[in-house]
Amino acid sequence: MTDQAPAPAINADRLWSRHMEMARIGPVEETGNCRLALTPEDVEARNLFARWCREAGMELTSDRAANMFARREGRDPARAAVAAGSHLDTQPHGGRFDGVSGVLTALEVIETLKDAGIETDAPLMVVNWTNEEGVRFGPGILGSAWFAGRIDDATLDDIRATDGARFAEEAAASGWRGTATPADLPMEAFFELHIEQGPMLEQAGADIGVVDAVQGLCWLDVAVTGMDAHAGTTPLPARRDALLAAAAMLVGINDMGRASGEDARVSVGRLKTATEGPSTVVGASEFVIDIRHPDQAMIAHLQEECRRVCAEVARRYGCGVEVSQRFAIPPTAFDGGCVAAVEAAAQALQLPYRRMASGALHDAANVAAHAPTSMIFVPCRDGISHNVAEYASREHLAAGANVLLRAMLAKAG
Ligand SMILES: [Zn+2]
Repeated sequence: MTDQAPAPAINADRLWSRHMEMARIGPVEETGNCRLALTPEDVEARNLFARWCREAGMELTSDRAANMFARREGRDPARAAVAAGSHLDTQPHGGRFDGVSGVLTALEVIETLKDAGIETDAPLMVVNWTNEEGVRFGPGILGSAWFAGRIDDATLDDIRATDGARFAEEAAASGWRGTATPADLPMEAFFELHIEQGPMLEQAGADIGVVDAVQGLCWLDVAVTGMDAHAGTTPLPARRDALLAAAAMLVGINDMGRASGEDARVSVGRLKTATEGPSTVVGASEFVIDIRHPDQAMIAHLQEECRRVCAEVARRYGCGVEVSQRFAIPPTAFDGGCVAAVEAAAQALQLPYRRMASGALHDAANVAAHAPTSMIFVPCRDGISHNVAEYASREHLAAGANVLLRAMLAKAG
């Protein structure tokens, strides 16, 4: 495609009606979905997606992880594909857009090019990654992690579902376990459109998020030790209360995080006490700190600050504390060329946009190890996601799909 020929506009009605048709599979309440990876609901969604791809003239292949790849041939079949996609599995009480929008906008790009009679030099590919949500099989972003070489074959095959089923058998039973390897599927670029799952775009009045990074993450296990004591007989100054110390640590960590710039995230979502007696001063407690930031140096800094706060508070309350790192995922900086293609598309379409890092992990963070990659965010109402009330408007989805179309055309030629 040359600069003289304007890119066609995607069909917003078709894109929306396909979202609604997909949402009929595994419905929850009025507006939600439950399609856990490789369950009959997920398989039904996969088969519907495959039918749409075939009707659009594409051929499907799949790999060991049951990732699905729909290919539209280019004028130069020797070139690596320009790809886009996301995931069709959902949370148990999830919405109609998380993941689905990334797959269906990529398909809509193909449909639009077909309607307009436009061929590209590079082949195009639409991808559905397996088990992004990590609900039935842990960890999440599993299919893309295997594809990127972060999990080996044996580990993948042996992963057990929450219901005991083995990944290899479930993938085969779905009909989508294939033999394609990542080496068979070279990509010149990969784009993932996703709903933002946060409130920043809506607050900024932006239609598009130009995502240039996925923030990194680090979990710290914290164990606080004090001494069990009688709630009636032990004077307050004589106590070594491990729950009170943990509470003060939580407050201290939060204060520290708030003072560390707007990109810092420190959270505690799980707190356990060794004793649960209402009349016992707690002798031991444990919690997990979840630290996130787009900058690796800041993750290290936040980790040190958490350790400092915990040690200081423990001393003040006469308790001991041990802090250890459970695991860490470094931040992913997306490919500058892909980010620029998305930004140029938003500018050409005169859409208000914002450059940002992704707060959540996505398949794109794995695919970035395989191919030049970036993401496009569209707003979702009130930032609500992983919730049946999740909502992205027809207009925002269409705007995102038009950006995706232009970014893919810029790469595919
Ligand atoms: Zn998702």
